[in-house]
Order: sequence, then C-alpha cells, then structure tokens
Amino acid sequence: MAGFFHKSIEYLKGIGPEKATLINKELGYFNYGDLLQHYPFRYEDRTTFHKISSLTDGLASAQIIGKIARFETIGVGRKQRLIGKFQDETGEIDLIWFQGIKWVQQKIKPGLIYVVYGKPTRYGQRFNLSHPEIEPSENSRPNKQFLHPVYHTSEKLKRRFLDSKALSKIMKLLLAEAIPHIQDKLPQTLREEFSLIDKKISLIHIHFPKDQIALKKAQYRLKFEELFFIQLRLITLKLARIDKFKGITFKNSELLNDFYHTHLPFSLTAAQKKVIKEIYADFRSGHQMNRLVQGDVGSGKTIVAFMCMLIAVGNHTQCAFMAPTEILAEQHYNGLKEFADPLGIKIACLTGSSKKAERTSIQEALDSGELKILIGTHALIEDKVKFKNLGLAVIDEQHRFGVAQRAKLWNKNKTYYPHILVMTATPIPRTLAMTLYGDLDISTIDQLPAGRKPIITRHMRDAQRIQLFSLIEKEIEKGRQVYIVYPLIEESATMDYKDLMDGYESIARRFPQLHLSICHGKMKSADKDYEMKRFTKGETHIMIATTVIEVGVNVPNASVMVIESAERFGLSQLHQLRGRVGRGSEQSYCLLVTGMKLTSEAKTRMQTLVESNDGFRIAETDLKLRGPGDLMGTQQSGALDLIISDLATDGDILNLARNAAVDLLKIDPLLRAPENHILKNHIASFNKSAVNWSKIS
Ligand code: ADP
Ligand code: MG
Repeated sequence: MAGFFHKSIEYLKGIGPEKATLINKELGYFNYGDLLQHYPFRYEDRTTFHKISSLTDGLASAQIIGKIARFETIGVGRKQRLIGKFQDETGEIDLIWFQGIKWVQQKIKPGLIYVVYGKPTRYGQRFNLSHPEIEPSENSRPNKQFLHPVYHTSEKLKRRFLDSKALSKIMKLLLAEAIPHIQDKLPQTLREEFSLIDKKISLIHIHFPKDQIALKKAQYRLKFEELFFIQLRLITLKLARIDKFKGITFKNSELLNDFYHTHLPFSLTAAQKKVIKEIYADFRSGHQMNRLVQGDVGSGKTIVAFMCMLIAVGNHTQCAFMAPTEILAEQHYNGLKEFADPLGIKIACLTGSSKKAERTSIQEALDSGELKILIGTHALIEDKVKFKNLGLAVIDEQHRFGVAQRAKLWNKNKTYYPHILVMTATPIPRTLAMTLYGDLDISTIDQLPAGRKPIITRHMRDAQRIQLFSLIEKEIEKGRQVYIVYPLIEESATMDYKDLMDGYESIARRFPQLHLSICHGKMKSADKDYEMKRFTKGETHIMIATTVIEVGVNVPNASVMVIESAERFGLSQLHQLRGRVGRGSEQSYCLLVTGMKLTSEAKTRMQTLVESNDGFRIAETDLKLRGPGDLMGTQQSGALDLIISDLATDGDILNLARNAAVDLLKIDPLLRAPENHILKNHIASFNKSAVNWSKIS
C-alpha cells in the first residue's frame, strides 16, 4: 500500500527523470504521495458563461461559448498577430495571438463551437482576449459544470511545459492510478460524528471539484484530518511526558503567603492570581510542569514568576530565571533583589560578562544550596553551571531562545526534571498556540494592572515633524523620557546606521540642551549596556536606537515612543515597541512616523495600532496579514508546515479537531482499541521523522 505513494514521480506518465528532478528542486516533491498533496491554490469558476454583450471592465476572467467567424493576420515579422473574430448571439470580440499563430490556425476551425476563457481587455468599444484558453465545446463539458484547478508552478517549470494545465493533466492520471491505494486514516466513527466525507472522494474533489459544495466538503475533510493528526500527536506526546516525567511536588506555600501578605507592594490582578493558582496546581500534581504563560506587555509576568519561585524556594529547591539579554537579566535581578532581600533569600546574577571570581562564588553558593535564585542570560545553561537542586526554571521572552538552549535546562537536575515556566509577551493567537504549543499547558494573563492609562497612539507623516518635536519637548519638560526607534535593515547594516545617525544629528540640532543616548547593532554589547543604563537611571533624556531595545526593558519614566519608518515593522513588533512606554502611571504616547505613500497593508497595520492596545487582537490581525510562518520566525515553523489548513482562517476546524483528539484520548489514551490502531500507526510514522516538540521548552 505505502509502496505506491513512495514511488518516485519520474515513473508518472508525462514526467520522466529530467522533469522529476526539476519538480524536486522547484516544488520539493519526490514521490506520488507528495504530488497528490499538491492541492490547487485556487479554482477558476467554469460554472458560468458570459455573454459577449455583458462583458464589463475589470472582470478578472470570462468564459464564453461561441464560434470564430474568421481569422485575420495583422502586421509583419515580429509584430505579426493573429486575430480570431469570435461571436456569440449577443456580439463579437477579438481573440488575439502573438505567438504560436501557425499552430492556432491549424487547430482552430472557424464555424465550430468553442469555449474560450481569459481576461477580457477593452480596446475602444471592443473587448479582446489575448492568448485565451480555447477548447472545442464538446470537450469542455459545458453542461457538466465544474471548477478548474489552478496549481502553483514556477517559471522554470513552465519553461519545461509544466504549467498549471499540464500539472492538472498529470494529476488526473495520478489520481486514477492512486484511488485503489488510498486508505482512510480516520476511523469510521469519527467520520460519522463530524460528517467527514470519504478520503478518496475528498482527494478527487480537492483536485477536480464538480461544484462549490463538493469543494467545500473536500476541503473540510482534509483540513480536519491534517489538524486532527497534529493535535493527536501533540496531545499524545504530552500525555506520555506527564506519565514519564515525575515532577518534584511542592506542597508548602508558607513563603509565598508570607510575601503575599506582608511584602507585596501592590495587589495582584485577578489574572495574575489565576495564573499563580494554575501553576501551584501543577506543582502539587506530582508531574513535571511545562507551562507557557502569555501576557501582554506590562501585564506583570515578572512578579508572577517571582511568586512561583518563592514556592519552589519554600520547598527547598533552587530556581533559574533566564532572560534573553544582559540588560534584561540585570534589570530582573535588580528588581527582584528588592523583593528577595527582605525575605532573606539569596539571589545572584550570572551573565557573559560576570567576572571569574564572581562565577566561582556563584558556583560555590549553588553547590551548597545557599543560593536560591539565579538570574541570568544563556550563561546559565552552560554545562559548567551546576545546581544542587534545581526545582524551577523560568524562561522569559521565550521566542528569543533556540530550541536546543531550552532543552538544556531540562538536564540541570539529575533526579527530576525541573518544572519549566516559559513566559512570552508576544501573544500568540489561540489557534497558533494550540498548534505550536499544543503539548504545553497555557496560562494567559489577560488583564493589565489597575491605574494604567491606555497609551495614546498616533500615526504621523514625515511632514508633521514640527508637531512631533513639540510633543517630545513638552514631555521632557515634564521630566519624562523619550525613545526614538529606527528599523533594522537586515540587508543593509550601513543604510540602517545612516538613518539612525541622521536622526541622531537632527535631534541633537533641534534639542542642543538635552542629553542623548544611542544604541545600535554595531556597538559592543558593553557599550550598549552602558548607554542603556544611563537612560534607565535618567541621566539621558532621549534614547535613539534600533530595535535592540525591543524586548522587556522597563523604564517606567519613559512616556514617548517614536517609531521612525513604522511601515517597515510588523504589527507584533510595533506593539512590543509600544509596550516600552505606558509602564508608569503617566499618560504615554506612541507616535508612528511613516512616509506619505503606504501600501494598504501598511495602512491596516497603522490603523490597527491606533485603534487597539490589545495585544491579542493585534496578534490575530497580524496572523491574518502575514500568515503564521512569518509571525513566529524560523525555529518553530516546522510545526507549521501545513498543507491545506490556514491557521488564520481555520480556527473553527482546529477547535473541533482538537476537541475530537482530546475526547478520543480520554477514552483510549494509548490508542489500544482496534478501531484506533490505524491512528496509532499513523502518528507513529509521523513521530519517526518529526522533532519532539514536547521537549523543547
Ligand atoms: P511584563 O509582563 O511586560 O514582563 P512586568 O513584569 O515588567 O511586565 O511588569 C510591568 C510593571 O508593572 C512592573 O513595574 C511591575 O512591578 C508592575 N506590576 C506588576 N504587577 C502589578 C500589579 N498587580 N499592580 C501594579 N503594578 C504591577
Ligand atoms: Mg517582562
């Protein structure tokens, strides 16, 4: 059975070894199974026919039935073209060919009935179709209405005559051969419950739907299957992990309570409390925790992490808290030290720039167990850093870390895997989270601390700089600080730098009395830190920087975020940048500066930010605008290699599929029932090739 789908496509009629190699290169397909899943990316509606008299400007395409009254040849040499006067009972249009004239004249006979298809262009009063598709009407089945598949191909493939039409011919042959070999991998019960059509039919109809309804049913079936298997796999992995990896049980919450009642300087939001409870429940479960906490910028994730660390410390274990940059690690350290000191908890910070003597004393304190909380950068996960008894590892802003780095944390405790808490301020839309982190538990802090004033966001054009400067001036007079951020141009570090320097100079000219900081990628990290610290301490008024300041930096006194060339940033990134202000109780502003000419997509981005401060809403829009691959960067994209589903639009199907997987595994967690064997085998074949996503975080 499987043999058939593993056959190399070179054996398919119409392909052969040479074209097979080209298809490998251009589309990444090797075998029958791959090619069968090259689904059309759209369908041309051939269910309706246009009358010539009803053609209008702006029609993307039209299908007309009629006959060629006569041919005319116009021009000579390279300018020669062939015109067919094509008529139906309502009028006449011109069919135009610039190439292949001889062939057309041989094949196409005046007087016979043809169906033509193409994009109508108006020339004066007449419409024409250039290089239309043309077929004798008996072949085009005008009475059996249908949708034409359109396949992705490439210029190179087209040059070797593998255009969409050729692919569709190949597909027809392939399908006919494949049908007897196709097995339905979804159990009958599931198909009935969710009204899913048979796999064979779905494959036929995805390539050659006879109408919209058939197409929709085929799409639904195939999307459901795809999402169902991803979820089934993720949840199976998770169940296996929970079963296999016993966790250290933390039952004592005295230290946490002590802090909560006597030291916590503010009251927690309901969302923060909820998340701490969820985590505490994990701690008591006896299983290793793997939890992702997502919360918008400023939602107060750090204190949540700290309070969870108190539980771990109160249960005689140590904690690691890993941040993506030195600046952030130090900031966390300074902030948390103020909480830890009064409780008598020893806390330290380890980064790449920690001195040797310091490292030694940190290691000694780790060995003796006296050091309870170690904050740091990836320096934390170096093999030589050893904990006596690591109970909880917190990873802040997880998207900055590679998979391998995170996995290393797992092995820091030899007896048990430590509990893992991953925090992110890049809210991931539910659909995406379910697919990317379907095997993790997810907690959401969906509320900001009370008393925050929503940031006022404005979209300004380059020409409004005078207004911009006066706002900056006013805020600085009030004692506030300002960020001005320039985009990183990856292709051209030099241009990047020039923009930033020009900006710096114009600000220096306009505000000669102010102190300025500057931070960019060409600077040494020690210099960046130094500038950042000056700004944090309030020694400078304006921080002019590229996106190095994007993540996590906390300067509550900063109230203005100016983003230059804002159209060059993605939505989520703009939202992150904006989150650097609005951290205190003062009114804050975010000013998005762009040129006059914007694409409509860029306009949507600016508009979304002006209208909304809600990270989740913004993330949803971002997903719709850019698609999931771009949103998440590269490392996780493997989990997003979806063939037919689209996480931006198929959230409903994903929910159904996930629930179906959850329900099924509730009844039969090991897929032992005979009717589930087929599922078990299928995900086993999956797991062989895939990365084990359950162990990445
Ligand atoms: P993020 O979720 O972006 O990491 P932080 O943890 O840095 O946010 O918190 C932002 C600021 O809000 C910090 O100064 C923190 O002390 C403060 N904060 C956190 N929780 C609360 C709360 N419940 N009430 C008031 N302020 C809070
Ligand atoms: Mg943070």
